[in-house]
Amino acid sequence: MMNHTNNDSLLVVKNLVKHYGPTKAVDDVSFCIENKEIVTIIGRSGAGKSTIMRCINRLVTNDGGTILLDGVEITNDMNKKALLMARSKIGFIFQHFNLVSRLTVLQNVMHGRLGQISTLDGIMGRYPEEAKEKAYEILCGIGMEDQTYKRAGDLSGGQKQRVAIARALMQEPHLLLCDEPIASLDPVTSRTIMELIVDQAKQRGIACLINLHQVDAAKEYSTRILGMRAGKIVFDDSPEQLTAERIDDIYGTGGTALNAPAQMVTIHPSIVEPLMEKEVLSVGQ
Ligand code: ADP
Repeated sequence: MMNHTNNDSLLVVKNLVKHYGPTKAVDDVSFCIENKEIVTIIGRSGAGKSTIMRCINRLVTNDGGTILLDGVEITNDMNKKALLMARSKIGFIFQHFNLVSRLTVLQNVMHGRLGQISTLDGIMGRYPEEAKEKAYEILCGIGMEDQTYKRAGDLSGGQKQRVAIARALMQEPHLLLCDEPIASLDPVTSRTIMELIVDQAKQRGIACLINLHQVDAAKEYSTRILGMRAGKIVFDDSPEQLTAERIDDIYGTGGTALNAPAQMVTIHPSIVEPLMEKEVLSVGQ
């Protein structure tokens, strides 16, 4: 297991703790992400992957530990301006895209600039000409220029995720946080979306932290994999080190569910969610 504790890293997560009542969603987690790394987090549903992402982006506040981005601590009592500044360096890609359906593709992409314009301009949808040009340029770069003036709500799932990626790129982020970016997509579209995220991140020198259910995709696209189990990181290493035994260890399947070679294994939510429910029930008893 790698032990990254370098304070000069792009992202430093140290001894992070987050409770939901009696549930320790994140239990003393430490890791770092360097520039240009593509890091995926795998683990059963309920392992704490999304909670880590939400703590980094301050969608939830942590109960302990520290998070540094570009050497600046992201704290619970940060003022609004400092929080906006930190958030502007982080692009977020969600499972359900989070686009504004009634707005056009171009308007949704320009939302990536909301942190840099006044609230009134944001409400009125007034963006500088330069922002429009940049949004269009990004859409061209990802093969979506034909959809520029289409209503976002009329797009397919894969197209919506492309727009969400374009919106994140519009921020010129240092870090992309992708929370199950392919969980709502079919296998073929999933592949094109993973390739798009990784290609754009490489081209633009952006680091990625990607929460994935699919072990085979994690192995294929990451430079490093974090495995989480019950709120803790139990694996932090290169994809080559993720053997079938290590996968069993992360998913706690005791060798019963994962007899296929590691590169062929796909952990789908439908397999892992019933396991999680069992866990939750036993905690509640
Ligand atoms: P993962 O992303 O790995 O599926 P999560 O981070 O969503 O896991 O959840 C980790 C644990 O925290 C789970 O036990 C989940 O039920 C619990 N949890 C997550 N969000 C909340 C919440 N808003 N309220 C209560 N419990 C939560």
